[in-house]
Amino acid sequence: MAGKSDGARAAAPGALRDAVRGSVLVPGDEQYEQECAGFQTGDGHRPDVVVAARTPQDVRAAVDHARQHGLPLAVQATGHGLGAPARGGVLVSTRHMTDVRIDPTARTAWIQAGVRAGDLVAQAARHGLAPVNGSAPGVGVVSYALGGGVGLLGREFGYAADHVRRIDIVTADARLRQVTARSDPELFWGLRGGGGGLGVVTGLEIELVPVERIFGGRLVFDGGLVAEEVLRVWQKWTESVPDELTSAVTLLPMPDVPGVPAPLRGRYLAQVHLAFSGSRDEGERLVEPLRDIGSLLVDEVRELPYEECASVFSEPDTPHSYRSANVLLGPEGLSDSALRSVLTAAGPSAEAMCVLSMRHLGGAFSRAPQVPNAVSYRDAGYLLYVLSPVSDPGEDVVRALHERVLAPVGDRALGRSTNFLHGPQDQGTARAAYADEVAARLAHLKAEYDPQGLFRFNLWDTGAGRG
Ligand SMILES: Cc1cc2nc3c(=O)[nH]c(=O)nc-3n(C[C@H](O)[C@H](O)[C@H](O)COP(=O)(O)OP(=O)(O)OC[C@H]3O[C@@H](n4cnc5c(N)ncnc54)[C@H](O)[C@@H]3O)c2cc1C
Repeated sequence: MAGKSDGARAAAPGALRDAVRGSVLVPGDEQYEQECAGFQTGDGHRPDVVVAARTPQDVRAAVDHARQHGLPLAVQATGHGLGAPARGGVLVSTRHMTDVRIDPTARTAWIQAGVRAGDLVAQAARHGLAPVNGSAPGVGVVSYALGGGVGLLGREFGYAADHVRRIDIVTADARLRQVTARSDPELFWGLRGGGGGLGVVTGLEIELVPVERIFGGRLVFDGGLVAEEVLRVWQKWTESVPDELTSAVTLLPMPDVPGVPAPLRGRYLAQVHLAFSGSRDEGERLVEPLRDIGSLLVDEVRELPYEECASVFSEPDTPHSYRSANVLLGPEGLSDSALRSVLTAAGPSAEAMCVLSMRHLGGAFSRAPQVPNAVSYRDAGYLLYVLSPVSDPGEDVVRALHERVLAPVGDRALGRSTNFLHGPQDQGTARAAYADEVAARLAHLKAEYDPQGLFRFNLWDTGAGRG
């Protein structure tokens, strides 16, 4: 293999290389760093071996290799949700497994493990269909769905996990299984929303929804003037909107640097993100009370093809180092005093930069899917989360700050959202993403399908001290 040192060549597992169509990389190989890198730059994987998989058989070979040598195994698609970083062991990189097959008649998509939301949205749009994707086009479809999946139109269609029909997965015995509600009901239940750790998924069959256009986008307010009012008015407003409207608020400071549009540069912003599948006229009427808040800097709310749905959140796509914390709140949301306390800790005068966000749940998020799954806390009305970059200040400062931000709502919290836990978690936090009976069933599944604990460095494993 080009660019590989002699030392690395000697360490490369030859039998694994023979079994894999993609690449097998070890430290020192030219592609090793690139394959380990992900969106989260804070603490990347440093495995002894990377299998850059091209096929399900490659994944099977990697799992078999790990099993035979007693090595812990990590999986990465895009690195947006990196939990515990692998130190040693095997990393299966799925980023090259990007096949998408749409069946417009059945309204389904078959996707491989490395497919990103933006690619799926674009391909589904050609057939007048859409996946129940989330805010950022770069996020991997598989892991997003394994963690539940809080989508742009989730109040109308529910969690992404509710739309998974079939899961192809390599389990710890190195078997490639096709898991459906009929073939393996308990495993199918636990994979959809359970946060992973039961195998390496090689592909999913998911349902698509018939959405070609939406009325939506961003309203960006001058948060230095009206942050509290935006949060308060928005929360009150969500109490009366239809299920076809899903929305969120994000509060954040914008740096004063070239590249940020002039009206936003150097300001504290309060953004409302909206996606409505109803008519434009109805949308305009629904949005009026928000526009009336005033101090609007940018109004991008309009009718748009679903293919442009990434503009609803317009999240930055530059890899960086970050940590986040979250709570799921009941339908009553934040009291006025909690709202003020949260804003004091995470708002414009926060000790470190905070992106404070609240998403409206309820609607179809709250309804049980036809085939039950492991998504917990369906009675949640809102998801509140805070995210901060962690180069300066360091991780300890940021974690302590996040605890202070969420402390005022602790007594109202139902639990945590799996997908919005970024970075290594302590066991208590990961555990809080599941109701007691769900966590117990998931623990049984882990014991049955991965008794040796082969699949590590995921939500369920902090990986501390492992290598
Ligand atoms: C900018 C941004 C926006 C986001 N927006 C949303 C949103 O709107 N809604 C929402 O619900 N979530 C959202 N998330 C969270 C995101 O869905 C999760 O972090 C998800 O786990 C990312 O998956 P990934 O494949 O992109 O990341 P990765 O880091 O590659 O994967 C995350 C973890 O999933 C596991 N995993 C990955 N692939 C497989 C596989 N094939 N088989 C088994 N396990 C696997 C591994 O444990 C891995 O560590 C967002 C995250 C970011 C950073």
